[in-house]
Amino acid sequence: MFTKNQLKKYFSLVLKIGVNLQKGQELVVFSPVECADTTRLLVETAYKEGASLVRVKWEDEQVNRLNYLYADIDALSEVPEFMVKEKDYMLDKKVAYIAIDAEDPNIYKGVDEKRLAICAKKRGIAFKKWREATMNNEIRWCVCSLPTLAWAKQVFPNSKTPLKDLTVKIKETMRLDSKNPVKAWEQHLKRLNKRANFLNKQNFEYLEFKNALGTDLRAGLAKDHLWLAAEETAKDNIKFTANIPTEEIFTCPHAFKVDGVLKNALPLVHQGNIIDNFSITFKDGKVTDFSAEKGYETLKELIETDEGTYRLGEVALVPKSSPIAKQKILYFNTLFDENASCHLAIGKAYPTTVKNGSNLSKEELVKLGVNDSTEHVDFMIGTSDLSVVGVKKSGERITIFTDGDFVI
Ligand code: ZN
Ligand code: ZN
Repeated sequence: MFTKNQLKKYFSLVLKIGVNLQKGQELVVFSPVECADTTRLLVETAYKEGASLVRVKWEDEQVNRLNYLYADIDALSEVPEFMVKEKDYMLDKKVAYIAIDAEDPNIYKGVDEKRLAICAKKRGIAFKKWREATMNNEIRWCVCSLPTLAWAKQVFPNSKTPLKDLTVKIKETMRLDSKNPVKAWEQHLKRLNKRANFLNKQNFEYLEFKNALGTDLRAGLAKDHLWLAAEETAKDNIKFTANIPTEEIFTCPHAFKVDGVLKNALPLVHQGNIIDNFSITFKDGKVTDFSAEKGYETLKELIETDEGTYRLGEVALVPKSSPIAKQKILYFNTLFDENASCHLAIGKAYPTTVKNGSNLSKEELVKLGVNDSTEHVDFMIGTSDLSVVGVKKSGERITIFTDGDFVI
């Protein structure tokens, strides 16, 4: 596992570069119970960094699994008022929010997908305000990760020391070995921003994705779209980084202008189930057909969630030379796998990925081609032979990616 010293470095990174905790600010941490010991150290570090109060929301996925298996579905899927109020409180208090994502990729294997979908849908509706607020940067938030045994066993099934192995790899992705990880991240984010700025100057009309696997997709970009890196500015004008690690730059696809077919490059873990070897076809932005060799029911429930899950809400570029891609590990966890591969997202787009987006009305966003949904699920399409070409309104074509890597 991490040494205490490494964890301290890790947590000060998440507190400084991630949520950018301010003196006197309240912090809320969402943590799996498996990570209890380490999460307590995060709490201590946060106090040392000046938090006024730290609250931890413990999540027990084993109990969640039992609930999904046995609970009365009406009772289980109902989202009680106090849970909604709790989120409202967090928004009112302008807390900093850290979510530790360390799910067992198979935790809901064997659970009826319909029950999972009913609960996800009701949660999506109940927590709409919270989702919109976080996606609009109304509070500073960060998703990070800690290794757990169940997850490590899935990543390293043949290892005698899976937890140790996963820890070493996560440590690499966090750049914890550098002398000053906070500085290393500042430099890294600067590089990502530079690339995003270059693409912003091009103002592409659409992107063409092609590879030997069978992806042949023309993804229109929203009008006034903005390329961003994970470092963003919150509504209070303070910078934060929503994911650590992060290697992507991303923007807003046009909800009504995506055509062609895509094949996934890496498996997708959604709702504790693995979806793999899948293909999705689009016409005028909408899914017209899909198939999956593994996890078809889970994919079907996802795409059929609402109107918006038939359309895309994110286009992200990640080169095969990204440090996470170079590890050549399948994490079965989107936080890592999306940073090893170009990806797209089904569902809601970040309003911040269009100019002035967080101040626009729903109708104005739709006009620009910004998708809306109760879901936002990333999935990976970047292979080592992927080519990406940006096409401008004038017809000018600029190659962005050749053989899975930037050429700009
Ligand atoms: Zn992304
Ligand atoms: Zn995403």
